[in-house]
Amino acid sequence: MENETTAICRQCGLKHGVRLYERINVREAPELKSEVLDGRLFVWECPQCGTLNLLRYKTLYHDPDARLMVWLTLGDEALEAQIQAGSAHLEDLDGYTLRLVRESGDLIEKVKIFEAGLDDIAIEMCKYVTAREMGLGEVSMKFLKIDGADSEITLSYPSNGQMQMVEIGFNTYEDCCGILLRNPSIKEKATGFVRVDSQWLSAFLA
Ligand SMILES: [Zn+2]
Repeated sequence: MENETTAICRQCGLKHGVRLYERINVREAPELKSEVLDGRLFVWECPQCGTLNLLRYKTLYHDPDARLMVWLTLGDEALEAQIQAGSAHLEDLDGYTLRLVRESGDLIEKVKIFEAGLDDIAIEMCKYVTAREMGLGEVSMKFLKIDGADSEITLSYPSNGQMQMVEIGFNTYEDCCGILLRNPSIKEKATGFVRVDSQWLSAFLA
């Protein structure tokens, strides 16, 4: 479902028509998956001054083939309560991974993780372990990519206003998957629409 709205350029104030999506179904519109992955769906370029502006909107990302639904809520708690209440009765969502995210960057990250065939809870655990090992404290890390012959995982994080990257070995990820296997209650908690992030994970690490 595509909509038009008017956005205002943060640099020059130009009012411009932009498209946004209330629903993103990547089986019906496969081209939207790459537009989510590279972030194009959430920015617009001002035709007058060339500034890239962020486009914030709520949307439901649905990949029926991957059995994945991610609700981008912008932190709207009333909407999140409504989503969680509704999903309790949807038996046809069996086998689905259901997630809530606050910002478009979080949605992009989730899609990257699941496209790579990885488990987002294990990735959250990798971030936690890596931030601790590096002595970074409270830092917002994001999964960026997995590549190379050894399937190295790259995480990004902000430091002094710059984006930094750190590579971790695939064995770290496997270790985290092992911890999850030995502690099945963590995954059981991730049923229904859940926001799986560092805060969510911290409840199990106390
Ligand atoms: Zn402009």
